[in-house]
Amino acid sequence: MKANIEEIQRRIQNAAESCDRRPETIRLVAVSKTIAADRVRAAVEAGVHILGENYIQEARDKIEALSDLDVEWHFIGHLQRNKAKYAVDLFDLIHSVDSIRLAREIDKQAAKRGKQQNILIQVNTGKEATKSGIDEEDALALVRDTARLEHVAVKGLMTLPPYFYAPEKVRPYFRALRQLRDRIHEAQIPGIAMEALSMGMTGDFETAIAEGATLVRIGTAIYGERA
Ligand SMILES: *Cc1c(COP(=O)(O)O)cnc(C)c1O
Repeated sequence: MKANIEEIQRRIQNAAESCDRRPETIRLVAVSKTIAADRVRAAVEAGVHILGENYIQEARDKIEALSDLDVEWHFIGHLQRNKAKYAVDLFDLIHSVDSIRLAREIDKQAAKRGKQQNILIQVNTGKEATKSGIDEEDALALVRDTARLEHVAVKGLMTLPPYFYAPEKVRPYFRALRQLRDRIHEAQIPGIAMEALSMGMTGDFETAIAEGATLVRIGTAIYGERA
């Protein structure tokens, strides 16, 4: 696993350098859904600092088992409103906010805990019926509405584009997310920074970096194929 992580870090560095970006502006999120806590611990010992989880219950157990580690936990799965309170308890960044109702619930739960919850807006760049995320056309309005919530801070955008074996086919979706981020940035919404772009996985993270990714979410290339 250490070799895998070093290899990914090297590939991130090379991808950054080939498009004149500073490698330290790209952060690796190690996606550990279905991976047992002891293997996640090994990944942290091998140099990972951010852990991504998709399911609340699974994450709760793992976060408890690994509470001695100095890491960031990111929620990257679909979040139901009735689980928002757990997400606020557990996660430094929630990548998957796609409605004002969910954002309001997160705000309410964060207020109760005296927390400012960092979030990303998930955009369904491929307009796939099976995927979560707000449509591109509605994202600016959602960011504006969310900006009014006192206990939620929008940090950027996330996408899970359609799956293609060839990374070049995914590039337009990554580009669309970056262009949308730039448009929202230009709107200069008070309190909104919009620097983060969460995009790119095992099969396509170098393309995502070329299109501006600041958070790449990688599971398989670290831990191997999931069961
Ligand atoms: C599982 C998952 C990943 C990681 O995918 P790999 O192909 O294993 O790198 C990234 N993002 C999300 C939202 C995921 O659910």
